[in-house]
Amino acid sequence: MILVRDAAQGIEVLLMQRGMDAAVGGGAYVFPGGVLDSTDQDEYLATRCVGITDAAASRLFNLESGGLAYWIAAIRECFEEAGLLLAYDENDDLLALDDTDTGSRFADLRKQLNAGEMLLAEMCRTHHLRLATDRLAYFNHWITGAGRPRRYDTRFFIAVAPQAQSPSHDDGETVSNIWIRPAEALARYRDGEIELIFPTFKSLEVLAGFNDTSAMMDFARTPRPFPSMSSRARAGRDGRHLLFPGDFAYAEVGKLDPEGKGTVAYEILPGVVAKLSDKVRRITAPNPGVMTGPGTNTYLLGAGDEIAVIDPGPADDAHVQVLLEEAKGHIRWIFVTHTHMDHSPAAEFLRQKTGAQLLGLPSPRDARYDQSFRPDRVLAHGERISVAGCTLRVIHTPGHAPNHLCYLLEDERLLFTGDHIMQGSTVVISPPHGDMAAYFASLRLLQQEDIAYLAPGHGFLMDKPQEMVERLLLHRLERENKVLNALRDLGPATLEGLLPSVYKDVPTRMHPVAIRSLHAHLIKLKAEGRATERDGHWSR
Ligand SMILES: [Zn+2]
Repeated sequence: MILVRDAAQGIEVLLMQRGMDAAVGGGAYVFPGGVLDSTDQDEYLATRCVGITDAAASRLFNLESGGLAYWIAAIRECFEEAGLLLAYDENDDLLALDDTDTGSRFADLRKQLNAGEMLLAEMCRTHHLRLATDRLAYFNHWITGAGRPRRYDTRFFIAVAPQAQSPSHDDGETVSNIWIRPAEALARYRDGEIELIFPTFKSLEVLAGFNDTSAMMDFARTPRPFPSMSSRARAGRDGRHLLFPGDFAYAEVGKLDPEGKGTVAYEILPGVVAKLSDKVRRITAPNPGVMTGPGTNTYLLGAGDEIAVIDPGPADDAHVQVLLEEAKGHIRWIFVTHTHMDHSPAAEFLRQKTGAQLLGLPSPRDARYDQSFRPDRVLAHGERISVAGCTLRVIHTPGHAPNHLCYLLEDERLLFTGDHIMQGSTVVISPPHGDMAAYFASLRLLQQEDIAYLAPGHGFLMDKPQEMVERLLLHRLERENKVLNALRDLGPATLEGLLPSVYKDVPTRMHPVAIRSLHAHLIKLKAEGRATERDGHWSR
């Protein structure tokens, strides 16, 4: 149970420190809580729950029945562990324990409950209590990842702590308690001052985004999907670790290592082959950077003596060498998504060594595009090509570059996105060849496709492609709104004049890149009749 309260500097949350000898997370600061007890499933107690029925609770958890027991357990555990009882008294007021008599009476009851000498149902009956289940909101669900030795399956609730009560630890399972701002708890964890387990850490990250409990509870009560949060084991240079939703490698590790053996790498290293399926391998070029993430991904399709390459990468001898070795010289087709210098220049090198056919769209005449790339076959939107035992469908996706193509591997519903969608960074739309209106249209085009995974030009495999596309569109629309607001407040203004206001949230070192995207937004707005330009000054 996550208990929050309003304090002078924002939300505070109650954390209890576990005893050092606890089975899991000894010494760690956790939310009060515990294990579902058979006595939580009680018909009488169910009638004492305010504002929720077992049917409604079960529906939320996708259970046939018995969901309400979780609400009851949360309230019971919170009382047993933290001494806070979310209940209404006989006058339907939230229980107050701040007068000495009532306080000590309930302290006794808590002891009896903890000792198993009394049940919650009995306590409610004799003291005319009703459980304040209406004050709880379901928060999230954590399951230990497959392959972990100790499994847990935990549902988190959140509630505003009752005002006329103070928490106290029980000196058994928990040895201390603190009210702390979520951001401060996270900072103290990073500084190594306190121990947190991951579900606590991840929940605090969410809490840190809210300034007061009413906004927090509004969010918590908003109907939303409750994906089960589960960790995934991963492998890397510094041993095995856990991955969580939001980590870049999460989807890929889940796909390639469903049983959680911890055999899949969580890092992308240049020249190291990652086998993504029977037909698809990924080799990343040694060109990591701000714009290229871990480096440019080259994909090899097929096996044996018929190999196709997607995005051979930059003109880098070592990378070309690795590709030739991995394909054992059997490269017959080279596709490129677009001809930026980090994606296509190796094509010509590989063609000379293997005689492979080059496929894609020609470069615009611009030094930022690879002028050495001359396709043997110019591809058309919608065409299907069968190569290396795979069927690829060509999807023209201008925006980032006018000659940008995505390739859908139909057999696996895997989309090679090039730079149309990148992992972890916003795609640069740089005029004159970058085109924001086209970029929007190209994202919307993908909304009509049935895709399972995205294989980006930079980064790991990503799942839930439609959520990603939706997020990208929203992000661009938000930015467009900021541009319109800045035009209203500051216009007529130059790009430089608008930039700080539109890209407040972007670090200034990225501003030289951001100014190009700003320009792209303005050109789109101008074409739509929503902005005008005179002598480099923009207005609405
Ligand atoms: Zn690019």
